[in-house]
Amino acid sequence: MSPKQIRGMNDVLPDAAVTWRHLESIVRDVVESYGYREIRLPVVEYTDLFKRSIGEVTDIVEKEMYTFQDRNGENLTLRPEATAGMVRAGITNGLLHNQRQKLWTAGPMFRYERPQKGRYRQFHQFDVEALGYAGPDVDAELIIMCARMWARLGLSRLDLEINSLGSDTARQDYRAELVRYFSAVKNRLDDDSIRRLDQNPLRILDSKNPEMQEVVAGAPVMLDFLDPESAEHFSELQRLLDAAGVGYRVNPRLVRGLDYYNRSVFEWITDALGSQGAVCSGGRYDGLVEKLGGRPTPAIGWAMGMERLVGLYEACGGRAPAADPHVFIVAAGQAALAAGFGLAEQLRDGIAGIRIELNLGGGSFKAQLKRADKSGAAYALVLGEAELAQRTVGLKPLRSDADQENVAMDKVVARLAKVPELA
Ligand code: ATP
Ligand code: MG
Repeated sequence: MSPKQIRGMNDVLPDAAVTWRHLESIVRDVVESYGYREIRLPVVEYTDLFKRSIGEVTDIVEKEMYTFQDRNGENLTLRPEATAGMVRAGITNGLLHNQRQKLWTAGPMFRYERPQKGRYRQFHQFDVEALGYAGPDVDAELIIMCARMWARLGLSRLDLEINSLGSDTARQDYRAELVRYFSAVKNRLDDDSIRRLDQNPLRILDSKNPEMQEVVAGAPVMLDFLDPESAEHFSELQRLLDAAGVGYRVNPRLVRGLDYYNRSVFEWITDALGSQGAVCSGGRYDGLVEKLGGRPTPAIGWAMGMERLVGLYEACGGRAPAADPHVFIVAAGQAALAAGFGLAEQLRDGIAGIRIELNLGGGSFKAQLKRADKSGAAYALVLGEAELAQRTVGLKPLRSDADQENVAMDKVVARLAKVPELA
């Protein structure tokens, strides 16, 4: 019986991996061009870290975490997101003592959700965090950085929504008002929302249940409760985005699925991926470092869903540069194969970035040329007894009608360096 694959956990096959790598490298380049540095974190943390940061009454902590006990009885969880681990690393490594940090990390995250297009149980995030920055300048820069990424990737169909969740105190007042509102319409709430009414009413605004949308639409909005400092912070963010020419829509009902956010929150959404429209989401979490035991440190970050980014890239007609071999070496016979090995190494030495496939496993000229064609290579280099005797090699274009050319063995590197694919 063949082995089973876990639902919602996907392989990224070689053709797709080419696209992933292309996108990852562009995202990395852009983020590093703003001074962010990579940090690599464990995939597993103590369960408690996520409970304390994400919040007990959230979808993630209530029902989506992959939690287990290790052999020592420790309660551990596969990370559902990266911010908690990032903050933990900042504290445990002393990275936040009188220092500011601009960091990025990337990798798999795990949530036990209902798998569907754009929503998986193992998915991948690219995550950026600025620790020690109170904003709103850094808030604006993090968003402008996204806009630059979309431009570099040729993505359209992305809209920016922003909101402010204000200070903790302002949110308390708002919360009380929300409880009043939702209590009055309790008969129209679903079970999840009724449960949240007491514990975490803001979460109700983030309900994904279509039947809840109307009730949610009538709810009071946070923006009417903002404290003056947060209101000024939010205005300044908007002024900076305006000045930078980044368009946005203020969505007063935008809250995030995690508890630690305050002030600026934002989401880049697309209509190109069906109902899984959030491609990149972020926000400010000024209280989290202190809550997890560090010194008070303002911070903000965003996380991008790589599966959704890849989906949008393809929906926008994006195609990663091919990773097919440039050259396939056809070598018939033992002596030719030995010469082929030498030639392949010589080319790899001589032309940076060249991709060469040497025919392995023998076969007739005809069979090897068929493989060469199938490999996607632009050229075949043909080595047979006749070529060996003359110390030449046949250069055969595979993607055009141009004739095969005989090239002296010691001129092959120079000749290939001139072909358009390698120039
Ligand atoms: P959603 O509203 O779609 O559930 P979220 O608010 O839970 O998203 P975050 O926790 O902020 O998302 O994660 C940041 C990004 O990670 C999202 O914008 C999305 O692109 C991606 N993401 C989140 N959950 C998943 C998942 N289960 N599968 C694939 N991508 C995901
Ligand atoms: Mg979610």
